[in-house]
Amino acid sequence: MAYLIQGETGGWEVVVGLEVHAQIVSQAKLFSGASTAFGAAPNNQVSLVDAAMPGMLPVINEYCVEQAVKTGLGLKAKINLHSVFERKNYFYADLPQGYQISQYLLPLVGEGTVTLGMPDGSQREIGIERLHMEQDAGKSMHDQDPNRSFIDLNRSGVALMEIVTKPDIRSAEEAGLFLRKLRSILRYLGTCDGNMEEGSMRADVNVSVRKVGEENYRTRAEVKNVNSVRFIQQAIEIEAERQVEAHESGAGVVQETRLMDSARGETRPMREKEFAYDYRYFPDPDLLPLDLTPDYVDAIAADLTELPDDKQQRFVTDYGLSAYDAGVLVADRETADYFERVTHATSEGGKTGSRDAKMAANWVTGNLFGALNAAGLSIAESPVSADALGKLLDLIADGTISGRIAKDVFEVMFETSRAAGDIVEEKGLKQIIDTAEIGTVVDRVITDNPDQAEDVRAGNDKTIGWFVGQVMKATSGKANPQAVNELLAKKLKG
Ligand code: MN
Repeated sequence: MAYLIQGETGGWEVVVGLEVHAQIVSQAKLFSGASTAFGAAPNNQVSLVDAAMPGMLPVINEYCVEQAVKTGLGLKAKINLHSVFERKNYFYADLPQGYQISQYLLPLVGEGTVTLGMPDGSQREIGIERLHMEQDAGKSMHDQDPNRSFIDLNRSGVALMEIVTKPDIRSAEEAGLFLRKLRSILRYLGTCDGNMEEGSMRADVNVSVRKVGEENYRTRAEVKNVNSVRFIQQAIEIEAERQVEAHESGAGVVQETRLMDSARGETRPMREKEFAYDYRYFPDPDLLPLDLTPDYVDAIAADLTELPDDKQQRFVTDYGLSAYDAGVLVADRETADYFERVTHATSEGGKTGSRDAKMAANWVTGNLFGALNAAGLSIAESPVSADALGKLLDLIADGTISGRIAKDVFEVMFETSRAAGDIVEEKGLKQIIDTAEIGTVVDRVITDNPDQAEDVRAGNDKTIGWFVGQVMKATSGKANPQAVNELLAKKLKG
C-alpha cells in the first residue's frame, strides 16, 4: 500500500511516523487528585499542583502507571522496570509550571508492534518505538473576547501516554488503519477512550518523502496536533505533495513544525523544528525514578484482556468464520461480545448450546449493522439485545419461520424491542410446513395459470421460479420454500 507520488523526476515514496497522544482513562490527574471529567466549566478541575502554585509537589497516580504498563503489554512492547520523569522546559501561556513533566531518556515502555490487517488479506507490522507518560497542558482560548485570551487549566496535569511509532507507515491509508487499530487496542484495554472529538487522542504527524529505492530517509516535517483520522490522512497527502515539489524545484525541505489548515487544505510553517536540547531536559527533582518489580508487571500481564488479534484468531478457529468476518466483529469489543452472546443459546434449564456462528455473524454484520447505521445508534444502544436476536435465529433454525420472514420480524423487533416469538405469534407468520396445505395452494396456482404450466411441461424450467413466486405470494411468504419447490416439481413435471 505504499503511496507513490509520480513526480517530474520519477516516483517518490512517502514515509510517515506518528506520535500519538492518548489520554489515560483515570478519574484523577497524573500528579494530583483533581478530576478529569470531560465538559466541566473552565478552571473547575484545577488543584494547586495543576496551577503550579509555589511549593506544591507532584505525587504520582499509581493507577495511571498501571494503565500505561497495561498499554505497553497490549502493544507487545518491552516494559522498562526503571524509568525516569524529566522536566521538558518551554514557555507557553497555558503551561503554568514553565515545564512539562514527561519522560525522555528512560521511558516506561520500549519497542513494540502493532499488526495491521490489510484490505488484500495480508498483514503489516508497524513498529512502536516507545511509550512514555507525561502531563497535558491547559488550553488557550482566543475566540472568547476580541482583545484578550483566556486560559482553561482543566486539562493541565491530565495523564497522557505518548506513543511513538517507527517511520514504518507508507501511506495515508496505512496511517488510518494504524490509528483505528491502535484505538481498538486502547479501548479493549480500557486505557484510553479514543474519543478524538473530545481530544483524548491526537497525533503529531512526521512526514518525509524519498525517491523509490533510496535507502536513507530525507528531512522530515512535523504536522502538529491533528485530531481526527481524516485530518491526519489529509495532512500526510498534502505534506507529501508539497515536499516532492520542494525537492524537485531545488528549494528543499527544512526540518520544521507545521500547522494543518484543513479548511484551506494546506499546511503552514509554525516554527522551526525544536530539538531535544532546546528543552533542557533534566530529571524532575520532585519525583523519584519509577521502579517497578517484575512481579508487578507479571500480575498486570496475567490479568490482560483478550486483545483484538487473539480474539480474531479464536473466532476463526472456534467458530469457523473467515478472517475478514472475524476482523469486522472484533474491531470493536462490544460488537465481539454481542456476537458471542448471540452464538450462545441459554435454555430455561440453564443448559447452554451453540447457534450457527456463521449465521449469527451474517445477522450481526448485515441486518443489525444496517439497522443501527440507519438509526445512528451504537451497538450498546441496540433496541434488539443479543439474546433477542439469538431467539430469532432459533425460530429460523427450527423451521418456525423462513429466513425471508425473519427479516420482517427483525424490523419489527428493532422498532419495538419486542420478542421475536411474540411478533411471529401475533402476526401469524409461522411458516407453513404442512405439505397438504401447501399442495392445495400449489394446485390452485397451477389451475389458474394453464399457459405457464404448459410452458414448464414444454421444458422451460425458468417458469418454475415464477410459480414459486406465485405460491409464496399466495401464502404471504409463509410457505416453506423447499416444500414449495418439491411440490411444484412433482405436480408440473412428475
Ligand atoms: Mn508529548
